[in-house]
Amino acid sequence: MTRPRRLLLCLDGVPFDMVRESRERGLFEGWNAPSHLLSPFPTMTNIALSTMLRATAPLGYESLYFDRTSREIRGGIGKYIGRRTPDKLPSSYMDELDYQEPLPFEFLVYVAPEAVWRADMRRFDEQFRAAPQRRDYFAFLKGTDGLLHIRGAEPLRRALESLDKLLNEIRAWCGAETEIMLFSDHGMTIGEIRRVHLQTHLRRCGYEITDRLNGAKGRRAVAIPAFGLIGYAALFCDEENTVKLAEDLTELEGVDFSIYRDRASAIIVKGAKGSARVHRREEDGRISYRYEQMTNDPLQLAEIVRGLSDEGLLDNEGYASAENWFARTATHIYPDALANLYNALYTERVHHRADLLISLKDGYYYGSSFFAHIVSLKATHGNALRASSTAFMMSTHRTLPEFVRADEAQPLLKG
Ligand SMILES: [Zn+2]
Repeated sequence: MTRPRRLLLCLDGVPFDMVRESRERGLFEGWNAPSHLLSPFPTMTNIALSTMLRATAPLGYESLYFDRTSREIRGGIGKYIGRRTPDKLPSSYMDELDYQEPLPFEFLVYVAPEAVWRADMRRFDEQFRAAPQRRDYFAFLKGTDGLLHIRGAEPLRRALESLDKLLNEIRAWCGAETEIMLFSDHGMTIGEIRRVHLQTHLRRCGYEITDRLNGAKGRRAVAIPAFGLIGYAALFCDEENTVKLAEDLTELEGVDFSIYRDRASAIIVKGAKGSARVHRREEDGRISYRYEQMTNDPLQLAEIVRGLSDEGLLDNEGYASAENWFARTATHIYPDALANLYNALYTERVHHRADLLISLKDGYYYGSSFFAHIVSLKATHGNALRASSTAFMMSTHRTLPEFVRADEAQPLLKG
């Protein structure tokens, strides 16, 4: 190996801003500046990590998912607890992990996050020190996600302090031949979170909420898996229903916008703030996007489009290169929105892709009433807004690009 050995440590759900803040408080001294790592929509662990590590796509957005072949909802809590058998591995990135918390913790982390975090950190430390010290080591600590969801920012600050201390010890023990790389899978929106009354609203609009779409032709039937308390929703329905469905959703409090496929080469973005069509074009391997405002400006990109136009970066059909869009929207309220939202519906981020995806406003969630009864939320993620979409990546040895898309992270993490 021509590079130093690497300890790769993923912290579930730690937003870029909290890492920048912890550095301002003197933590992670001597590390290089953190990159903004843009998490794909919906901003969820398995989607993010399989993209960042170029691993196989998970079956669905969460462990409760809609199977497009049998046209019914499958999986759920049984997949979530119990033994970690191969059929429960959501993506091949899990095969690359040298350390992850014992499976019962996956659930406990949302009940007793402090205890799980401490036990997890200690166990990781022991196992890392017992591992061969020449090979790379990859660990995933999920306790940070639970701490933020259930307790909020302050306990996470303390957790980052204890982690900084542990990593200083590990650095002293390993020496400079080991590069430590810390990163997260997605960010988090911190603050009070309210439930979106999605099913009630759709029933009122005349839809039938179902677990099975088989034989539903002619009915206005919709399947909406409800699992974690999260800022997006995935809807499955017959194709002819998507347009009306997106329209009916604009009236529901908490919905920012919906997206759905349009004529096999574009997507529609529709929300209370208006509607737009996003076009993608590929010529000689060069990708470009066009933002077509239909009514108003749902993604708040009009000013960016004007800027691109003033600089002569739009062609006569209104397309600009993916790189130019990325450079101008990486810190936008919807980071890299055109590529991110288009790819959410046309690439294999999950195997069973939704017909319509909702991005909720910050401060709202959709999910299972079972979880809603046992936990109260201080933060969540899942939508396409900046706080949830901006994860981080930081190295003790290398200066990384200021902005990195999830699908470009793999060479930096593993190369
Ligand atoms: Zn996560």
